[in-house]
Amino acid sequence: MKTKILSTTKQDISEAASIIRRGGLVALPTETVYGLGADAFNSKAVADIYKAKGRPSDNPIIVHIARASDMGRLTPMLSADIVALVENFWPGPLTLVVKKKADVPDRTTGGLDTVAVRMPDSKAALDLITMADTPIAAPSANISGRPSPTRAKDVISDMDGKIDAILCGEDCRVGIESTVVDMTSDVPTILRPGIITAENIEAALGKKVKYDESLRQDSNFHDLDPNTGAGEADGFAPKSPGMKYRHYAPKAQMTVIEGQRDKVKQEIERLKGLNERLGLKVGVILFEERAFIEAAHDFFARLRDLDNEGVDLILAGALSDTDGVGFAVMNRMLKSAGYNIAKV
Ligand code: AMP
Ligand code: MG
Repeated sequence: MKTKILSTTKQDISEAASIIRRGGLVALPTETVYGLGADAFNSKAVADIYKAKGRPSDNPIIVHIARASDMGRLTPMLSADIVALVENFWPGPLTLVVKKKADVPDRTTGGLDTVAVRMPDSKAALDLITMADTPIAAPSANISGRPSPTRAKDVISDMDGKIDAILCGEDCRVGIESTVVDMTSDVPTILRPGIITAENIEAALGKKVKYDESLRQDSNFHDLDPNTGAGEADGFAPKSPGMKYRHYAPKAQMTVIEGQRDKVKQEIERLKGLNERLGLKVGVILFEERAFIEAAHDFFARLRDLDNEGVDLILAGALSDTDGVGFAVMNRMLKSAGYNIAKV
């Protein structure tokens, strides 16, 4: 398939919107990462998203809307908490899992009776949804398992030839995917951390939220192997379907070094030297201390750049943060490394 490379001019967005209306696939910029969009009500088009990405079919897709009032097309029932979160955070990087209306296709929701919805904070995305005049289902626009794309060139490298068009806009401002909150039980539950934190949500709702247990199941690891730096996950038993698969993985072998900052730096230097001595090409990801927003912005782009440079091994310094934006970045970093952790 020939993929049209489009810009974010009104004319190009209008062309992209007609592709969506005809049941085609268009990659689009959002403030979080680039999405791979299709008409959320067209089962065949949504099935094509799974094909293009090689995505396992039990992993549901987030539906993007351009007006809060479009919630009425997707869900039969809103709570005061849902309305409060919509009013506080939309448009923005917060996805709400709500009960679905019967006519939202199973293909979009992975057969669940809920649907995940968000309003992106990106003019190009909002214009596309408005012109297409339908909610747009869009997972991240990467080949399944690869790092999420935060720049148009990353989308082109994964999707050129597989989809109808790519809307090439700015680099994504946030850089990691939205926070996902399940709003279907009394206590809102964070299924995926993002830059909107538990604390932000609690402040808006005036009540406690919790984390899904699978997010905390990665803390038990073997100690570092002194020669390779490899560590191994112990008893990791993920609950949600998407967690079964290796995510965000670079082509290079990757290890996360965790511990007190000076020791982490030293260990990275030691392992880098050791590996380079025998001819391996080593890439390092070490963010400034507590610069979590920058880390979120840069992380996936760094992984892709290091892959393009052809490094064999990536050594990444863990961010120490148990709850906030750093925690959200760590969620991605650990998955990228296949939970390969070395403690120092
Ligand atoms: P992505 O499309 O790559 O941004 O991933 C979407 C994320 O939202 C995945 O982790 C899904 O498992 C999650 N998700 C989407 N829809 C639902 C839903 N109805 N219930 C629970 N999680 C969902
Ligand atoms: Mg994804």
